Order: sequence, then C-alpha cells, then structure tokens
Amino acid sequence: MANLKLSHIYKVYDNGHKAVNDFSIDIADREFIVFVGPSGCGKSTTLRMIAGLETITAGDLFIGDTLVNDMEPKDRDIAMVFQSYALYPHMSVYENMAFGLRNRKMPEAEIKERVMKAAQMLDIVDYLDRKPKQMSGGQRQRVALGRALVRDPKVFLLDEPLSNLDAKLRATMRSEITALHKSLNTTFIYVTHDQVEAMTMGTRIVVMKLGYVQQIDTPMNLYNSPYNKFVAGFIGTPQMNFFDVTLKRDHDKVTVGFPNGDSIDVPYEAVSKMNGGYLDGEKPVIFGIRPEHIEVNDDENGLKFIVTGIERLGNETIIYGKIGDSLGEFSLKDEGRAIVVKLVDRDDLSVGDVVYAHPKLNKLHFFDKETEITLIHKIPLYNTIPALISEGRINALGTSVRLPDAISKAVSSGAADLIVPPEAIVSGGDFVLRVAKIENVDGKNLAYLQNGEDYLFALVGDDVAAGESYGFSILYDKITVKVNGTEVMTPIGSEVSFEGRFSKKETRENGERVLRFYYNIGEYSIEAEKEKGYKINSIDKDRCYDYVYRYTVDRDKIRIAESGESGLDVNVCEMLDYGSAKYAMVQTEDGQTLLINADADLSGSVRIAFDGKDVSVYSTRIDMKLC
Ligand code: ADP
Repeated sequence: MANLKLSHIYKVYDNGHKAVNDFSIDIADREFIVFVGPSGCGKSTTLRMIAGLETITAGDLFIGDTLVNDMEPKDRDIAMVFQSYALYPHMSVYENMAFGLRNRKMPEAEIKERVMKAAQMLDIVDYLDRKPKQMSGGQRQRVALGRALVRDPKVFLLDEPLSNLDAKLRATMRSEITALHKSLNTTFIYVTHDQVEAMTMGTRIVVMKLGYVQQIDTPMNLYNSPYNKFVAGFIGTPQMNFFDVTLKRDHDKVTVGFPNGDSIDVPYEAVSKMNGGYLDGEKPVIFGIRPEHIEVNDDENGLKFIVTGIERLGNETIIYGKIGDSLGEFSLKDEGRAIVVKLVDRDDLSVGDVVYAHPKLNKLHFFDKETEITLIHKIPLYNTIPALISEGRINALGTSVRLPDAISKAVSSGAADLIVPPEAIVSGGDFVLRVAKIENVDGKNLAYLQNGEDYLFALVGDDVAAGESYGFSILYDKITVKVNGTEVMTPIGSEVSFEGRFSKKETRENGERVLRFYYNIGEYSIEAEKEKGYKINSIDKDRCYDYVYRYTVDRDKIRIAESGESGLDVNVCEMLDYGSAKYAMVQTEDGQTLLINADADLSGSVRIAFDGKDVSVYSTRIDMKLC
C-alpha cells in the first residue's frame, strides 16, 4: 500500500520531443487513478516513468515518502501489467506466475501459496498447467494480472491491459479489475484511451492531451464540470454538441444566438456565474450541451431542427439533426449546424420531421472561443466591478471609499473596471451588499452578493447567512484594474523572480573534497541544496554553467539581511501602499526590478537575502521547471 506524489514531472525524449509537461498529482493510498487521452498524449510515458522504465527529465517522483527518481524498477515495489501480456510462451501458467518470485529466491512453499491464492482470485486454478497459447485472450490477461498479484506490490501499474480483448470480454474484465482493486486495497494506476473504461473504473481520472494534463477529477466532476472543450468532448458518448453562439443579456433573460440566425432564450440565473463581458451579444462563445440533456417537442421556444437520421438502440434512440427547417446543401459534417439528441422511451420521430430542441437549463456549458476554457467555474474566477475614480477616492458598488496610495498613483481619474477574484473580497469594511444566497462549493461558502441586477461573488465564513448584509473590503494588491479595456494595474503574485547563473565550487575541507553549487544573482551567491545542484547538472550537463536560469522565491521568504550577512544589494525605487499590504519596488545592481514585502518604509540601499531551499529553478531555454 502506498501513496504517490508526482511533482512537476517532465519528459523530454533524446530527439527533443517533449512528451510530458509539468505533470503534478498527489495520489492517495488505495486510489484507482486512470490516465486517459488520445493516442500520443503521454499516458504511457508517464506510467513508464513511474515504473522506472523511462528516465524522468525533470521533477520529483515519490512513492510513499521516498524519492524514487533514480531507483531501479525492481526496487520500487510496483508491478506492471501490459497490453501485450508479456507472458513466456514456453512456460506453464504456474511457472509464469512463479517466475518473478523464484528470481527473488522466495521459498517454494511460499511461492505456491501465493500463486494458488492469486489463481483463486482470478479464477484460473484449472489452467495452471496450460501454456499461454492454449488459452484465450481474456485468460492470458488474467495470468498477466496474476503475475503482478503474486508480488504483492505497493502499486499496480496497468497499461491498456484490455485493449486486445473483444468488447464483451472487456466489459467483464473491467468489473473484475474493479473488484480486484477493492479486495486488494492497493493503489492502481491504469492507462487507457477508452473513456468508458476511465469513467467506470477510476476513482479519479487524469485527462491528457498532447503531453499536458487537462483536468484531474472524479468521473462525475469531469462529466458535469469539464474544465475545457477538449474534456467536455472527450467524456461522454455521443459527444457533447458544440455551437458557435453569441449571448445577449436583457435583464433576467439571456438570448443565445445561433449562426443560422435562430435563437433561444434562457434565464439569466442559468449563466449568472459567467462574466458579464460575454453577454454583450457580440463576443463569440462556444455553447455545449450533451445529447442526453436535450428535450425534443413542438414548443416553438426551442431550437428548430430537422431530423436527418435516427438510430434505435432499444433502450434509447439517437436522433441526428440539422439546425433550421431545411436540409440546404448536403455536407457530411455540417460543422456548426449538426445536432445529436439522445432520447429514452421515444419512438415517434421520423427522418424529415421538424422539431424543437430544449436544452435542460441546469446542464448548459459555455467555453471561451479562443482558449476553449469553461466560462462557468464552480467558483467564478473573478468579478468585474465598474468604478469611478477621482481625487483619491473610488466610487463603486454604491459606496465611496478612499483608495490606497498605490492605486491612486497608478490610475488616473475617470471610469475603470476592477477585476476582483472572490478571494480578494474580505469580511469587514465600507462596502455593503445583501447576501442573496450561499452555495456550498466543495466545502467552501460561495456568497452571491446582490449588486443591482448582478451578483458579486465572494467566499465567506460559516457565520454569514442569506438575507443578511455583508460588509467587506477589497484587497487591492490582488486585483487587476482596467481603463478602457487596457490593464493599468495587475495583481501582485506571491512569487518574486530573478534571472541568474549557476555555478559550482570545489574545496578541500578537513582533507576531503567538497563540491558545492550556487545560484548567482549579480554578485550574490546563494548555496543550492545539493540534490537540486546535481539535478540541474544532470539535466543541462556541463552547459548548466553557461546558461541563464530563472529563479523564483516566495515573496514571504525574502528577508532583509542581518548586518554582516551576505545578500543581494538593491536600491529602493518606490514604496507601494495597497492599504492592507505594503511593498517596496527595488532594483538590483544588474537592473532587475522586483517587489518585496515592506511593513515599514524603506529607502536608499537595502540588502536582501533568502535561502537556497526556498528557490525554484526554471530553464529559460525551454519552458520547464527543473527543481
Ligand atoms: P500514449 O501512451 O498517450 O499513446 P506515449 O506516452 O506513448 O503516448 O507517447 C507520447 C509522445 O511521445 C508521442 O508523441 C510519442 O510519439 C512520443 N514518444 C514515445 N516514445 C518515444 C521515444 N522513445 N522517443 C521519442 N519520442 C517518443
């Protein structure tokens, strides 16, 4: 039994191909994790890195509490099951299962006990004397599972184990592997390109595309709240319908406009978490609706479509259609006008019928046309607050409040939009709105604060209830300010980043040769932790001493150096007062500008310092975190 941690794992093959990018996940003991995605997305590469069959280019892999990047596969206490079974043809089933244990010099009696136990679990006791070629595909895959089982590993890795089997057997084996996982209480990591396997077997699923993780979530969360259009389309059959639309709000109604000029109206409540900027009737948006979330009837308030095909599957009927009331010119794909509907218990439609589609209002999906990321997050990413700024004061949300210096200096008088994430709204302060409702989102309290016809979203404590007034203030260092659509102020992140070089120094201490690594920023050398030094060296080889790296440090970890302590000398350019937080903008001697925390006013020259253990290192040549 074991938990695993993958932290910023990358794989760059020798030919320069980046197969896996910045893969991070914490896998709890006994989870059944599925990696899913189209062929070539990096699933097997990731699994093989966990197995130790492929080197890890950058990042850390922990099994339990042990860093195993450089550990031999045989020492990792894992067992792997392949698609190809990889059985020895000249050995019997019993010998195949016993082989690994014999290699480890396990006593014969114990081997027998383990093989018999596994054979019973997998129902292959009667086949122990047979050779693999005398068995069916399903039976062979059971032997392959058995060979993994007898080793009693901490982690099972399975690479498309069912893809050589026919559909019926796959379905049976799916439930058998799930049952096996339950009875073994061991961590499983399972690779497949089949979304049905992923959905039915995984406790959590990692959806991948082109080497990047798209979303890590439970099956139902992937289905209900896909992060982007790719995940939305990948999970579910038939695939989700997508349409290019515009959205226009009129008070409590939003009109969804389709490319053929048709439209349907939905209540504003159905899209209230979407940023108002998308509701202007012009911005292109992708509308997504699953085939099973559409009702079909004669009510003309729906989206008119003509039935072009029907598949009757008995328990359900799949209707293919085309938006509008005529077929128009024939096109096989009809991009943007095709619609698929899944109906249960309906057998009254025929090809050529003109009917109306009614999307279920709590099942609507919308995606940004360019990024294809969802526009409805469970917790909205930000609120847009229109404001009027003049003479050091801000007028917003029906209240006038004094602005902290940093904002009044950066933003001239006039109209501005404040882009405020929910986390930047904190209890206590001069702004007051009524709480319209509170929604529990994954254990957090999301408050809908009524602002005229709009909502302002904030995260609040357990003591806040619907109907009450909520007094709050804004953390100005966490917001973006836009004037006429242009950003004039951006949030201050939690990290400071430097560019610098990397070096090593060899010394003799007490007669012993000692190697030390350093991060060099201007004249300042910070000793690197040894493992990190070796890692940078192993990734970039000897060129690491010529390259420029990007070093990042949590702003909270940067301190003013003690007197006599070595450090980075900087000049204070300006103090920035954001009200709830103060920063100093400083410049290094080699011209890099950064912000540091400053509770008290700083001026002139200051020496700052931080520890090597708090430094993260990024390559500036390829987009990759090295350690
Ligand atoms: P998946 O398992 O999702 O089908 P893989 O992990 O096998 O994908 O491969 C990911 C990408 O890495 C693919 O583009 C593949 O062509 C490439 N790749 C795999 N193995 C190698 C290799 N040894 N050398 C170079 N590229 C490789």
